[in-house]
Amino acid sequence: MPRPVEPDAVQPGGGFVHTFLPGRVVFGAGTLDRVGAEVEALGVRRVLVIATKSARAAADAVESQLGDRFAGRIDGVTQHVPTELADQARTKAHTTQADAVIAIGGGSATGLAKAIALTSTTSLSQQSTDLVVVAVPTTYSGSEMTAVWGETSGEGKVTGVDLGVLPRVVVYDPVLSRGLPLGVTAASVANAVAHCVEAVWTPKADPITEMAAVEGLLALSAGLREVQAAPEDLDARGKLLYGACLAGSALAAAGTGLHHKLCHLLGGTYNLPHAETHAAVLPQVTRMNAPAVPQAKARLEAALGTTDLAAGLFDLFQAAGVPTSLRELGLTEAQAAEAAKAFRPTANPVPVTEELVREILSRAWAGTRP
Ligand code: NAD
Repeated sequence: MPRPVEPDAVQPGGGFVHTFLPGRVVFGAGTLDRVGAEVEALGVRRVLVIATKSARAAADAVESQLGDRFAGRIDGVTQHVPTELADQARTKAHTTQADAVIAIGGGSATGLAKAIALTSTTSLSQQSTDLVVVAVPTTYSGSEMTAVWGETSGEGKVTGVDLGVLPRVVVYDPVLSRGLPLGVTAASVANAVAHCVEAVWTPKADPITEMAAVEGLLALSAGLREVQAAPEDLDARGKLLYGACLAGSALAAAGTGLHHKLCHLLGGTYNLPHAETHAAVLPQVTRMNAPAVPQAKARLEAALGTTDLAAGLFDLFQAAGVPTSLRELGLTEAQAAEAAKAFRPTANPVPVTEELVREILSRAWAGTRP
């Protein structure tokens, strides 16, 4: 039986439990120049650099800051951390005797660094190693603020939580995300927005995650509107990274619920693009769940500048040009119905029945405005 969550997850007497994750955030334009000093302060000796294709120049700059500490480089990463790639990266970390990895890029680069930190062997049952992760994010996935890892093999995607994969230092430099194409920007922001919105209704949601979620949505929605007009504006890019940081922390503490679990099922089974899937599904899950968390709903609406959270999210994504239907992402109507059948109930403010999931996915498939 799914465990229902009290509205707003308020516990008797207003009590709550919140775990702050350890980590250091260095934020600001030009902070890429500080990566070498941050690494030095960690006391590590051999540093492997992972860089997404678009971050080659940034990786060159970091490599020269590292001097003798530079142990090797992996250029190019793939979404969802394929095990084959993770194994190659672990081997490289082993042969270069790396005790730290710097990931420069989006969630895929951070994900590969986490896979190395999780285990230096090819067995996922191993405990995390002492290898230190430093993240330099260039998208808004928020993965750099979480201890969540994921890896994909022929049998699907396996995910887990391990403090050993949590980046010890995160360097947010808005200059690096200035060139992120608007389409990728908007989809990545939708991913971060989903972390904020879902963080108010998961079983572990609390007033601190709600505060991060509301402030995160404020920054993300304002930043997204601003980059549409001025894609290279550093203030707007900074707002988006700040929002992503808060969204990631909210996700890290509140965990995932109905929305993320649906997106993972769709992504894992039908190979849908991760960030875009969030934009199609979130407004529909919000339409069902938001009335059950009225206080958080009102605060998120104020942050977004709307009186209807679900419709406001749909309009935000549409105005930014992100597909708001699963049909546009290549899913068939029959697959949407199949996914509704396959979905396993999860704790949620309103009971998760097959009928509820069918309605969410059928509206998300068609892209119906809430
Ligand atoms: P991504 O890292 O694959 O990046 C998306 C695209 O943007 C890629 O083509 C990349 O090369 C390009 N790119 C990145 N930075 C760029 C820049 N500055 N300029 C130009 N192009 C740039 O995608 P993502 O959306 O950042 O991350 C998705 C992955 O992260 C998924 O695998 C998802 O499961 C994972 N994720 C994990 C967590 C977690 O907590 N573990 C949270 C969110 C997402």
